[in-house]
Amino acid sequence: MPNAVSAIASEPEEQPFWRLKTLEALSAEEWESLCDGCGRCCLVKLEDEDTGEVLYTDVGCTLLDDQACRCRDYPARQARVPDCVRLTPEAVRGLSWLPETCAYRLVAEGRDLYWWHPLVSGDPGSVHAAGISVRDRVAGPEENFSIAELLERITDWPMEDPEREGSERGTGPLAL
Ligand code: SF4
Ligand code: SF4
Repeated sequence: MPNAVSAIASEPEEQPFWRLKTLEALSAEEWESLCDGCGRCCLVKLEDEDTGEVLYTDVGCTLLDDQACRCRDYPARQARVPDCVRLTPEAVRGLSWLPETCAYRLVAEGRDLYWWHPLVSGDPGSVHAAGISVRDRVAGPEENFSIAELLERITDWPMEDPEREGSERGTGPLAL
């Protein structure tokens, strides 16, 4: 006969919102909290005119705080940086350059958040401690670089996912 302790232990755990909801179903607060604060998407990207391929550099947007890994003027970001892309559920599914580690991308693909996501760890610093954020990896703000110099700063790491390296999918481009 089961005792009271085992009966309590068998209660199902409540699932966090990102496992239960689609991106479209998130509240505004849940949506904002889903950003892990990595800052990867705020690095300057270059598009190959011939192939359409988007390549990351390690140069920051003019508004990127490369230590906090946050936008210096988030509320006015699109007025100040016209090509800043506002993420929406539709945009998340359509942007090939959204980092593999991006929480919006993970949720859109039906995957769980990683251990270092602040919503999982409870610690906003874990995204930095895990080496996922851009902290200490940004060469400088975009205004310090000419186009020729930006070409020299093209790099792969913003699209890499250390947790998936060697997995069956690797780090190749996704069909979103
Ligand atoms: S890549 Fe995704 S999780 Fe990281 S800062 Fe950009 S929106 Fe947030
Ligand atoms: S304006 Fe702000 S949110 Fe937009 S890319 Fe630049 S730093 Fe990121």
